[in-house]
Parts: sequence; structure tokens; C-alpha cells
Amino acid sequence: DTNAPLLKVDNLESFYGPIMAIRGVSLEVKEGQIVTVLGANGAGKTTLLKTISGVMDPEKGTVRLQGSEIQGSAPDAVVNRGVVHVPEGREIFPILTVEENLKMGAYTRSDHAQIAADMELVYDYFPILKERRTQEAGTLSGGQQQMLAIGRGLMTKPRIMLLDEPSLGLSPLLVGEIFTIIRRLNEEQNVTMMLVEQNAKVALEVAHYGYVLELGRIVMSGEAKKLQQSKDIQEFYLGAQ
Ligand code: ATP
Repeated sequence: DTNAPLLKVDNLESFYGPIMAIRGVSLEVKEGQIVTVLGANGAGKTTLLKTISGVMDPEKGTVRLQGSEIQGSAPDAVVNRGVVHVPEGREIFPILTVEENLKMGAYTRSDHAQIAADMELVYDYFPILKERRTQEAGTLSGGQQQMLAIGRGLMTKPRIMLLDEPSLGLSPLLVGEIFTIIRRLNEEQNVTMMLVEQNAKVALEVAHYGYVLELGRIVMSGEAKKLQQSKDIQEFYLGAQ
């Protein structure tokens, strides 16, 4: 089935001890799309991404990549299938250089010529990382660390990138810059994106399709353009007056 989604999540449930953080989530991401999952603090966005990327095991439900089930797989195995999680809070290696961080992204790969080519590709998209390649990553600005986190994710050669709040803590100018690059990576490098965001405004501008997560459940979904028009979205997520 060529129209099958690249990523399909069905009835997923994830717990922290007795606390059910993901309460039966179903969603899909079609190849080539940017799909956003919007939600407030504590809605379960990070938990959802951790469960997809194998950092957490679900209690129930399935995660399918091109039809084959990957839930419960180890994180490395999920990366090798082409799914990379770019965590929030930057989570780069602060005492390694920029270039060493990028190389860490490719640690499961052995195609050395292609790794070097991919490093150049990352530097094409983020010239500031090339300028700073010998600098310790911990000395970068917040925006540059976010760029490095995305760059490191690209070094895994992903088919789908799971981006956890790339706008977090950045100025509007930097948010615009990073989202422009996210859109270019989608269009020019054919990287499918699942973008988890509190910043509904920017997320709906780049996304094709969106879901709204509240208290671990999907409460609304639709084409991004439709969601932008929705009164509820405007009131609760876009801060319309
Ligand atoms: P944020 O934007 O704050 O990261 P989020 O939408 O990503 O929010 P999650 O971090 O996935 O939300 O949290 C979902 C729920 O699970 C919240 O109620 C949170 O308090 C709870 N939770 C998250 N991490 C843990 C943990 N390690 N132990 C117990 N409960 C947790």
C-alpha cells in the first residue's frame, strides 16, 4: 500500500508508575509531511515522543513505521530504522566540540564517506555551526545549541525527525530562522517531521496537518490551515483577543 503513512500510532498508552501520561493516542504522519502535535505544558508531548523513539515502553498500543511495529524496540534500533528524536532542552554534549557532537549523531553508521558528506550538508544549513565547529558546544547560544541538536539528528540520516519544542526559550527572530530551516529540510531533503510544540502559531505555519493533545488524549485534529481557523485553537492556543 503506497498510501500507507510513514508513521502510525494506534491506541498508545504510557505510564509513569501509576500515572497514565498517554491515554490512548492514535495519529499518523504521511511521508513528506510536517505534522505538529500541539499541547500545553504537561499534556504529554514529550512522553509521546519518548514512547515513539523507544526511550519509554508503552503499556498498550502500537507504533508502526511503514507498517512494521517498532514499539518496545531499543532507542538505537529505532534510530537505525530512520526515526530520530531531537529532544527539548537542547541535550547536546556540552564539553564536546560542535563537530564531535555531530559525529555522535552518526555513531551507529559506518559509511564514512557519506558521514563526511552529511556533515557538510549540516554545515550548509547551519553555517554558524561550521564557524564554531571546534568550539565546545556548551559555549553556544541557546539558538545555536538548538541548531546543533537538529544537526546531530540529521547525522543519523533520518526518514522522520521527532522534534520536541524547537522554539523553546528562543527569541521570535531565532524561532523564525529555525522554522525556516525545518521547512527547507522537509522540502529539500525530504525529511518527514513530527513537530511537538506549545507555540501553535509558528507550528501551524509550517505544518501540513496537526493534532491537539490535552491531558494525554488527542482532542482535535485537521489540516493545519483548518486548525488556524478554528475558534477553539484561536482562543486557547493562538491567544486571539
Ligand atoms: P512539557 O512541555 O512540560 O514537557 P509535555 O506535554 O511534554 O509537557 P510530559 O512531559 O510528556 O508533557 O508529561 C505528561 C504528564 O506526565 C504530566 O502530567 C507530567 O507531570 C507527567 N510526567 C512526566 N514525566 C514524569 C516522570 N518522570 N515521572 C512522573 N510523572 C511524569
